[in-house]
Amino acid sequence: MIANAESETVLTVAHELTVAFAWEVLHTVLDPEVPVVSICDLGIVRDVLTQGERGLNVVLTPTYSGCPATEMIAVEATNTLTAAGFTPVNLTTTHAPAWTSDWISAEGRDKLRRYGIAPPGPVQQGQDIVLRYMPQGKQSNQIAAALDCPRCGSNNTERLSAFGSTACKALWRCMACKEPFEHFKPF
Ligand SMILES: [Zn+2]
Repeated sequence: MIANAESETVLTVAHELTVAFAWEVLHTVLDPEVPVVSICDLGIVRDVLTQGERGLNVVLTPTYSGCPATEMIAVEATNTLTAAGFTPVNLTTTHAPAWTSDWISAEGRDKLRRYGIAPPGPVQQGQDIVLRYMPQGKQSNQIAAALDCPRCGSNNTERLSAFGSTACKALWRCMACKEPFEHFKPF
């Protein structure tokens, strides 16, 4: 009963429709493919600008062109901001500069690790960052030796497949704890 009363109070608190509040709201929008990290943790939200009294323009950069999650993210971000009181909410998508896994925040990397996904290492110098249609499986070969198991921290790991549950991830196995794990590929 008390919990209900509290959550009702929280819901009825009127927020000022500031850019800071919009960022706060966007931090609650999770990535559909990795639902432990928000679209802000991933660096997908590039900019939030006010438009008129209650409107917003949100600039998004999808992780890669044709990522099936992109449409869901746009709908979810719009609905969540609208529910928080912003209107109208306009989304702008930009591909320049192209998204890179280097934009994943330190907090996002911690969340991935705790979820059992090895976070991406830094994108290598000279690796081409033009518009990509799919993360390239090849690239994870280059960092094969440096990957630590997100569960036990052992470096004794091997890659089983260039693709995991989504094209963004590769499937690995830890020889120390015998557990398979996914790796969010740097790209
Ligand atoms: Zn392990």
